[in-house]
Amino acid sequence: MAGDALDILKSVYGYEAFRGLQAEIVGHAVAGNNAFVLMPTGGGKSLCYQIPALLRPGMGLVVSPLLALMADQVAALRQAGVRAAALNSDLPPEERRALWSAVDAGEIDLLYVAPETLLRGEVMDRLSGTRLSLIAIDEAHCLSQWGHDFRPSYRQLDALSERFPTIPRMALTATADEPTRAEILAHLAIDERDAFVAGFDRPNIRYAIEEKDNPRAQLKAFLRRHDGSSGIVYCLSKRKVEETAAWLRSEGHDALAYHAGMDKAEREANQIRFQHGEAVVMVATIAFGMGIDKPDVRFVAHLDLPGSMEAFYQETGRAGRDGLPSETLMLYGHEDIALRVRFIEEGDSPPERKRTERHKLDALLGLAETPGCRRQVLLSYFGNACEPCGNCDTCIEPPDLFDGTIAAQKALSCIYRTGERFGQAYIVDVLLGKTNDRMRQFGHDEVSTFGIGTEHDARLWRAILRQMIALRLVDVDVSGHGGLSIAPAGREFLRDKPDLMLRVPKAPRAKRSKGTAR
Ligand code: ADP
Ligand code: ZN
Repeated sequence: MAGDALDILKSVYGYEAFRGLQAEIVGHAVAGNNAFVLMPTGGGKSLCYQIPALLRPGMGLVVSPLLALMADQVAALRQAGVRAAALNSDLPPEERRALWSAVDAGEIDLLYVAPETLLRGEVMDRLSGTRLSLIAIDEAHCLSQWGHDFRPSYRQLDALSERFPTIPRMALTATADEPTRAEILAHLAIDERDAFVAGFDRPNIRYAIEEKDNPRAQLKAFLRRHDGSSGIVYCLSKRKVEETAAWLRSEGHDALAYHAGMDKAEREANQIRFQHGEAVVMVATIAFGMGIDKPDVRFVAHLDLPGSMEAFYQETGRAGRDGLPSETLMLYGHEDIALRVRFIEEGDSPPERKRTERHKLDALLGLAETPGCRRQVLLSYFGNACEPCGNCDTCIEPPDLFDGTIAAQKALSCIYRTGERFGQAYIVDVLLGKTNDRMRQFGHDEVSTFGIGTEHDARLWRAILRQMIALRLVDVDVSGHGGLSIAPAGREFLRDKPDLMLRVPKAPRAKRSKGTAR
């Protein structure tokens, strides 16, 4: 059996060997078992269901969320001589009839279908009369109500295990968090023992995270290192996407925009140009994501903080699918934290889900503020261990640390003295003794902590406060104003005064000499 799989790997795909868990998964599915496959983007999930579908008798059915994704897969398979087809709602009636006759005649190896189409009664009925080799549910995390790719129709795929109880099911995703995984297994009736979880390391991706200081200058410096190659610049809002793309064009880049508010035709045209372009910068919201199948994305920049560790991993993971060196940069500041906290709090999730979302955000803040190897933090979040990688900003240029115990105490008492409701900028002003009308109005230029922090500059104070947020010594309020308060761990800290080592932020480019901590 393994020999047959290898033959197909060579003859159809032209590859010499399976990668990672592929061989195991293929063998497992060929034997007729269900499977859950969790593999990072670019890990090679497609083969895992395609090869068993070809080896087992009958037609493979593939549920896929995006028409564009389906069309690409079908085209590639056909080119390799596989009889693949896509059944979608746009299909004219004659073509649809022809497709069904081909299915009935056993002339289709793999049939791709969107969940909405699949779930229609007549389609289900016809498929019940068709011999199926396997049912693959690609991008299975779309069934999670909590994920940002939620597709209501994916929810109804639980019908598959009832309608086709004897046909092996394979659910595939790159979304790693535990609740989503449990949801997929339960919903599609796949046993925990049938789960395959692949390693998450993407050694060819270099990670860097910087304080959002002068984002355009920072982006410019980053892009300068990637002249002539293509990449993605993620922004939070549609407006920022438009503005950034326009600005990059004025700077001479071939920059395109992509967001959900754009006209569909234009959006698709941009995606296609990116897909085939040589040096195209795609400026996008997270609407640009699923289904990007460009192997040579050389860089991914985040101009705003993603919502979670998973999102960060998935979005940066779009770089370097071809295994060649690629680089990512994330910029973030205090406003990003406040905004993300507000998104969670104002979202519709029930309280326990909000707590999970908050943990995921905190994990990302921990990554952003770590003085250690980024990859270690990232992988340990996904349950993988690794040595310091030598291929992230903190490995390449380890940050300076300083004893921040006194500074943290000062910051906490300042937050306390001003009533635990003001934001970062205000607290920093009080620490530095910089008064303004608002401060005078509140009488905060007379509190005992006014001006007690002049030994550090504003930049370092901001970094100290961010690290205290990442360490959960300080809380960010949920109203969206970014007010800071003392978290329970912060009260303990004030009581026990343990040593606290903090990192000195990297000085902005061109101003490296300005002293900070010492
Ligand atoms: P995923 O769906 O997990 O994001 P794909 O299935 O699209 O990943 O595979 C990513 C890339 O890796 C594709 O270009 C694919 O052809 C290639 N690939 C997959 N398996 C192998 C293999 N065993 N050897 C070489 N290349 C492979
Ligand atoms: Zn590292």
